[in-house]
This record gives sequence, structure tokens and C-alpha cells, in this order.
Amino acid sequence: MSRILIIEDEEAIADLEKDYLELSDFAVDVCSDGESGLATALEGDYDLVILDLMLPGMDGFEVCRLLREKKDIPVLMVSAKKDDIDKIRGLGLGADDYITKPFSPSELVARVKAHLARYERLVGSGVKPNEVLEIRGLRIDKTARRVSIDGEEKNFTTKEFDLLAFLAEHPNHVYSKEELFRRIWNMDSVGDIATVTVHIKKIREKIEADSSNPQFIETIWGVGYRFRV
Ligand code: CA
Repeated sequence: MSRILIIEDEEAIADLEKDYLELSDFAVDVCSDGESGLATALEGDYDLVILDLMLPGMDGFEVCRLLREKKDIPVLMVSAKKDDIDKIRGLGLGADDYITKPFSPSELVARVKAHLARYERLVGSGVKPNEVLEIRGLRIDKTARRVSIDGEEKNFTTKEFDLLAFLAEHPNHVYSKEELFRRIWNMDSVGDIATVTVHIKKIREKIEADSSNPQFIETIWGVGYRFRV
């Protein structure tokens, strides 16, 4: 059974969507604000998210952006204004579809089914196994862009993931902060290399048992960082 998360602050609309989706044999959860919706979407094992744009607190644009950094499930955005749809497209948030209010519940269900079918085809067609790096309990799934340590999954931002994966793919090689910044942030300018330090710190907090005595990413004083194998 596919699991759907509805993030919608208007109770009547959320109830209507939920009823119709449940009639079509979907398991449905509802969150009524952006913050709890994002947290639930990230923690839960959902197959699709229906995301209202105008939400109290964190709006749908922000929820979509943050969700997309970590998960690759279909997002169907719901908006009361046609203008918002142009904005969603313009921002390139990675929403898979848009539907304007008012819509018929059967149209919503049809769209949900179409996206799930398309997504399953994409995932199912990938016969290749995921590309995975495993080093002393650290598991980096490059295909799914997921990281776990001793079986516990950790949330990584896009750049944190890129940086860790790059270092792990080039073990025993010392990289300067400047070089890492150029490679991961794709900028030729010197930029703010402190960004690298901040990201290394965050990665260590997630994967190291003791950040002050790192076992994976070593600091080579005055030079840069090296991934230990
Ligand atoms: Ca709303």
C-alpha cells in the first residue's frame, strides 16, 4: 500500500483529500503546518507528498526546497493561485506537479496514481544495484544519496553529502580547503573557504563517535583534510 502525506492547513480540504485517497486504498497521514509536515515527510517512509503552498509558518516553497535536499519522492503542490504555479516553476523547486484549488478529488487521485506509477517505473527500471561505499560502519549510498553510520541513517544536506562522498572516494589523499571548495561548490573564485570548515564540522558531528578525535576525516594541520581508510 502506498503511503501519502498531506501537508494542508485547511482541515476541510485535508479531510476531503484524505477520504478520497483512502477510498483508493492509500494510507494517508495529514500535517497541518509546514514545520511538522517537513519533519514528518523526512522521518516517514512516504511514497508521495501533497503539499499546500500557503501554510502557517514555513510555507510550501520552503518545505519543498528543504524536502528536495534530502528526499527524491514525488511532490504534488497545491495552490489557490495560478500565479503561484508560475512561481513554483520559476524557482525550480523540483515539485513534480501542480494543481490549483478548487480541484475535483478524483482529479487529485488520478494525478497521485499517475505520479506513483511513473516513479515506480523509474525506480523499478534501475536494475543496477546502488553504488555504495562502506568504510568501518559508515555507509554512503551514492545512488540514493543516503548516509548511515552503524545502521543509523543520518540526514545530510546536498553539499555535506557531496563533500563526504568526494573525500570517501579519494581516500588517503589530502585536499586543501580551497580545492574542496572549488570541487564541491563549483566556483573558480576563492570564495569563502570557511564554508568547507563548517561543513566538515557538521559531517563529523553526524558520523564520528568523537568529533575531537575523528576516525574518518582527519585534519592535516596547515594543509587540509584527508579521508582515512
Ligand atoms: Ca493553505
